Order: sequence, then C-alpha cells, then structure tokens
Amino acid sequence: MTFPARLAIPPEVLKIAKRLEGAGFETWCVGGAIRDNLLGTENHDFDLTTAAPPQEVQRLFKRTVPVGVEHGTVAVLDAKNRPHEVTTFRKDIRTDGRHAVVEFGVSLMDDLARRDFTINAIAYHPLRHEWRDPFNGRADLDKKVIRSVGDPNWRFQEDYLRILRALRFSARFAFRIQSRTLEAAKANAQGLAQLSAERVRDEWFKGIATARKVSKLVALWGEVGAARIWLPELQQTGKGNGERGIAKAVDKLPRDPVLITAFLASDPASLLTRLKCSNKDIERGRAIAQWRDKYPDPRHLPGVRRWLSEVGAHADDLLALLGGYASRIPHPVSRLPQLVASIRAAKDPLTLQDLAVNGSDLLAAGVRAGPGVGETLQRLLAEVLEDPARNTREYLLSRV
Ligand code: ATP
Ligand code: MG
Repeated sequence: MTFPARLAIPPEVLKIAKRLEGAGFETWCVGGAIRDNLLGTENHDFDLTTAAPPQEVQRLFKRTVPVGVEHGTVAVLDAKNRPHEVTTFRKDIRTDGRHAVVEFGVSLMDDLARRDFTINAIAYHPLRHEWRDPFNGRADLDKKVIRSVGDPNWRFQEDYLRILRALRFSARFAFRIQSRTLEAAKANAQGLAQLSAERVRDEWFKGIATARKVSKLVALWGEVGAARIWLPELQQTGKGNGERGIAKAVDKLPRDPVLITAFLASDPASLLTRLKCSNKDIERGRAIAQWRDKYPDPRHLPGVRRWLSEVGAHADDLLALLGGYASRIPHPVSRLPQLVASIRAAKDPLTLQDLAVNGSDLLAAGVRAGPGVGETLQRLLAEVLEDPARNTREYLLSRV
C-alpha cells in the first residue's frame, strides 16, 4: 500500500507542469493515468490539474484548444501537436444530475473531493514527487474495489453518469463495487433516465471496448437496473438457463460495440435508435436481426452465393457473429467463413453490377424499356449465382 518514489512522467507533460509551476500555479497529475500506473498498466496520457485559471493556461501556452473552458479544461498542444488536458482546480457548486456549475479558485483537496471514485482521486506532484490520496484510493486499488468519494447517494444524484462509470471501471479492472456504492447505484438507477442518450451510449460503448469480460459488464448493467431503463431489449448474461451460453458467446465476439449490442438485443434497431446511433449503425443492427436466423447451409454452394448477394455489406458482421448464433442454426455452419473466402477469392459475380450484361445491352437485345429490364437482370443474376460460369455475354443474351 505504498506509493512509488517516482512516476515516469513524459517530458512533454513535465514541460507543461514546469511552466505552470514557474508562473506560480500549483500543478498536479491526476486521474486515469495515475490510477493505471499504480496498477502497473502503461498509460502516458497524464491529465494535469492546476491552480491556474483557464485564461492563465491559455496565456501561458502558445498553442491551446479550449476543449471545455467553462469546466476549466484547456488542452495544451505539445511540439508534436498532441493535446494534454490541463484542468483548473474546481468544485461543483450546483448540479442537477446531468450538468454542473463549477467554481474555480479552490484547492487541490476540493478538486479531488469532486472526483467520482477513490481510485480516480489520487494526485502526484510531477516535480516534487509528492502524493495526495485523501480518500485512500491506493488502498482501494489493492483491495480491488470501486468506491465513491464521499456519500455515494449524493455523488450519484449529482451526476447519474457516475453509476455507469462505476460499472465500466468494475468490468474493466475486474474490481468489485463496494457494497454501499453498489446499493446506492441500484437505489438511484431511476435517475439514469435523465441522462442524454449520447452520454449513455458513450459509456456503454466504452464499457464494451474496455471490459475484461463483456458478459460481466452486461450482468452489472442488469443488476443495477441500468439495462431496464436504457437497454430493455438486452438479453441477460447471468447464470440462468441459456444466459450462461449467451455470456460465453458474447465474450468471444470481436470488441465492436455495435456488433455486440446487436448480438445481445432482441430488437437491435430500436435499441440503437434509442441510443441515437448513426443511421449506418442502426442499419447494421437491423441487418443483423433480419439475417441472424437465416445463415445458409455451406453444403449448398449456390445458396451461399445467394446469401452473400442478398446480405451485401453485412456479410462480415454476420460472419463475425456466427460463433454466437451457431447453437440456434439448424444446420452446421462452421465451414461457412472458409466457403465465403473462397467465393470472394474466385471473384464470383454477386451483384447486378458484376453481370456481363447491363440494362443497355438488354434494351439493344429488344427488351422493352421499363420495369422489365430490372426484372430480367435479376433473373439473370439468379442464374449466375447458381453457376458463375454462366456469366458471359453470349449465354446471358441467349437467355433474354
Ligand atoms: P479512462 O481511462 O476511461 O479515460 P479516466 O479515469 O481517465 O479513465 P476520464 O473520463 O478521462 O476517466 O476522466 C478523468 C478524471 O476525471 C477521472 O479519473 C475522474 O477523476 C474525473 N471524472 C471524470 N468524469 C467524472 C464524473 N462524471 N464525476 C466525477 N469525476 C469525474
Ligand atoms: Mg482519461
């Protein structure tokens, strides 16, 4: 439960800290990078917290980006144009569960006290090599526990997003959530309804991307009641009948948040729409739901080509989910990826554009202009999907 004598702070960060300190402003390293380095995980993305007000930070450095000046955050660009976040010591003076009105001109202690969890509220002085850990975050890192700074009920009511952050950190580090903190998370889950869909989506997606086991994250969202409010279409991954199978499957999927969400949801499109995802992502979800019970039988090659032709750009998503759905598909599908690869390698024609004839060819051959042209092309494509060797001008025109 000791602190290392020194942390290796990157020279660019050190330079910023020196400049601020030189101007008379106390400056400390805080947040995720401190936590991760104490855990033995590399993280060079050190955030700085300083007594300097945002205007001073902007004045002291030539190149800055006002990423959140109203909350005291200015990004300072280093020689390689990489941003380093510098945030003024702040205190939340008014909160409504979603936004905070902040006050500057406070101490490091005030700043640490408004942070979410003890493991995120440890400060290190990059020049004096001193540590400040007023909430015993170091001990919680050892004990592997997520604990609110201060009273968890108040802290969650100040900002309900902290509930979701607790779940994310718990799944990411395989830490348990302290029982009082967990009880408060459950008791305040209804407040999550006030959050914006974008913030919830970002938390959920970040959680999927960083969880040691996605099934654990899903179980936590269920246990706390966050899933009931924001992801009611989610299938649970607990220990019940069938749930264990889903948990096992989801932990083997690629860490693509949209793919995983679609896999877990009974109605992916409605869930992704609620989370205000892009139309492209909603479309991915819709396609996954539409096709997940219709994988072709690899023993019938033309059927696989027809499937590829119909699912189009969604084929790779469906192949990525194959392992997860294998148990509910009535025929064996393990050879499907290999077969698809060979069809792609052979460049078999799969779309109307791949046909050896086009609409003008059909008109020239005497097909009447109108819907008949498209229908004929479709019919020819069906023949070619049956046997790619048929994709020649002579053969196709002979079939018109
Ligand atoms: P990550 O590795 O996910 O970036 P992080 O701890 O750096 O983890 P950030 O969201 O980057 O998380 O926030 C940086 C720090 O700001 C946190 O460590 C925490 O001290 C504080 N913080 C962030 N969000 C909140 C919040 N909603 N309430 C209180 N403190 C917060
Ligand atoms: Mg961070």
